[in-house]
Amino acid sequence: MSPTYKSGAFVQQCFASHRLCLSVRKIDGAERILLSCSSCNLLHRLTLRALTSHVAAADLTVEAETTELTAPERFVQCFGAHATALAVREMDVQQEAVRLRCAECRRAYDLDVDAFETHQK
Ligand SMILES: [Zn+2]
Ligand SMILES: [Zn+2]
Repeated sequence: MSPTYKSGAFVQQCFASHRLCLSVRKIDGAERILLSCSSCNLLHRLTLRALTSHVAAADLTVEAETTELTAPERFVQCFGAHATALAVREMDVQQEAVRLRCAECRRAYDLDVDAFETHQK
């Protein structure tokens, strides 16, 4: 079995040096998110405490806000429909905060992260 590192240092490092290589590989509801890095061949698992979402004011359309979905429901739908449009935009391991943005829905997802883990593929 490959070792697992229970630390956010790796994902922070990954984000700092090549954020565009990070992609959302897999999700487990809105409770766990698996990020994959194509550059250093690591998998980062985030266990979430909470997930919220919002649209940037400039992108706000009436249509987008009429559907009554919770943020986790939106996120699951979003991942199901266009996982490749999701990108990691912000990463702050100290604050346990990660922000993803979907280019398709033009929506940002703010993750409140309980645990960061890293393991090799
Ligand atoms: Zn990396
Ligand atoms: Zn989306």
